[in-house]
Amino acid sequence: MEIIHVSAECYPVAKVGGLGDVVGALPKYQAELGHVVKVVIPMYRTRFLYENQWELVHEGGQNLGPHWFHYSVIKEKTNKLGFDLYLIDINGLLDREKIYGYDDDTERFMAFQIAFCDWLSKWSHRPDVIHCHDHHTGLIPFMVKYCYAFNQQLAEVPTVFTIHNAQYQGWMSWDKYYYIPAYDSWKWGLLDWNHMINPLASAIRCAWKVTTVSNSYLGELHYSANGLEKLFEYEKGKSYGILNGIDTKIWNPQTDNYILKNYDRGMVEQGKRKNKKELCGQFDLDIDKPLIVFIGRLVGEKAADLLPEAISQSIYQHHGKANFLVLGSGDPNVEHQLDHMKKQFGGYFNSYIGYSESLSHQMYAGADFLLMPSRVEPCGLNQLYALRYGTVPMVRSVGGLQDTITDFGDPNGFGIRFNQPSVGDITYSVGRAIDLYQNKPEQYNWMRDHIMTLDHSWDKSAMQYIQLYESLKK
Ligand code: ADP
Repeated sequence: MEIIHVSAECYPVAKVGGLGDVVGALPKYQAELGHVVKVVIPMYRTRFLYENQWELVHEGGQNLGPHWFHYSVIKEKTNKLGFDLYLIDINGLLDREKIYGYDDDTERFMAFQIAFCDWLSKWSHRPDVIHCHDHHTGLIPFMVKYCYAFNQQLAEVPTVFTIHNAQYQGWMSWDKYYYIPAYDSWKWGLLDWNHMINPLASAIRCAWKVTTVSNSYLGELHYSANGLEKLFEYEKGKSYGILNGIDTKIWNPQTDNYILKNYDRGMVEQGKRKNKKELCGQFDLDIDKPLIVFIGRLVGEKAADLLPEAISQSIYQHHGKANFLVLGSGDPNVEHQLDHMKKQFGGYFNSYIGYSESLSHQMYAGADFLLMPSRVEPCGLNQLYALRYGTVPMVRSVGGLQDTITDFGDPNGFGIRFNQPSVGDITYSVGRAIDLYQNKPEQYNWMRDHIMTLDHSWDKSAMQYIQLYESLKK
């Protein structure tokens, strides 16, 4: 099959979170299964762009409302990521350092989607499937089916839409309707949700199949989907949950170049201790205490707002028996509090406010526990990385966390689970982690060993997507 993934992120070219990891890994695994796999993302000004060789494969022009824009499509020459990588360059709009966060993000991703459809409509053949990821590509299923500029060539191409996060929907007001290339005006309802143009809602209606990244999350969307609950109920017949995997070549403690000491199951204790020593030295923490870390976007979905209070309470209530390290960026208020706490709890707590791929790997390797108190977690990758590095996940039972982690209080359980995203539940779970680490070494060692044997590679899920595409063949 010829499969085209379209996304705003793809690791290692451009990554903000899990979307980047998935679009960097799933296509590689699908290519290994013998398919022709292409990934198309915007051309941002990232390091990857400057450090690699590109060839120009197409140039074209289209309109964004009254504004004509020129675009070009470039391809990475050596196929170094294991699939064909294409970047769409739109001068002045996409070629910026950051991926998101500009006032004209609506225009940027709208132009990206139009350019993508335009380029594809010029191909001499049709691909077998267009696989769109999240709302930045959510108007593509509508455009290929209904926009006159593209539907003659593309209406028959199956589209699959994967929801990595339904909190963000790409809403825009109807006064931007003229950005969308011409279509039968009575079809406007396929774009609308609550009097706004809603790309996520449009994709759920127009894509041939819809997937989310875990089964539990798919179930949760029926009662909690940031306003789209009814739509998920209507469209449940074409919706599937396919759990994300991890790229076990990149996330491998035996070969990871970011960490000081590589290790496998057999030497997990010594290996982790060396990495922990380095980490504790760098952040002024005590190597003999259990080290609990948080890695992620500092936003409400991740319950990052609870971290300052939960960590302070845990330090007080458990008499400083655990150490904490936080890596993340996001809500300025949370960033400020975490920064302030460094002085207040020096020796017990530290934080790195910002984004650091290398530090994240060092933390998965050096920590004893990884905390994820998420309010919403479609799949979650951090807990899967933690498992692979022998770091015990402490998770709230929600979404993909619920599907991948069991509690050590249950038979053969290998993690720590709690029910509420609350200071009380987090503090209580920290107490359980300390007790496990200090008083139950046999059980703790068994858990650490066991979690490193769990297979969360993409093999199975990549196959499930292929089966889904196959089902769309006429
Ligand atoms: P989400 O996509 O909702 O942010 P996921 O758990 O699916 O959450 O994926 C998060 C990914 O982003 C992981 O690879 C994690 O290590 C990485 N990550 C998040 N924040 C940071 C950060 N500040 N520095 C480095 N990596 C980060």
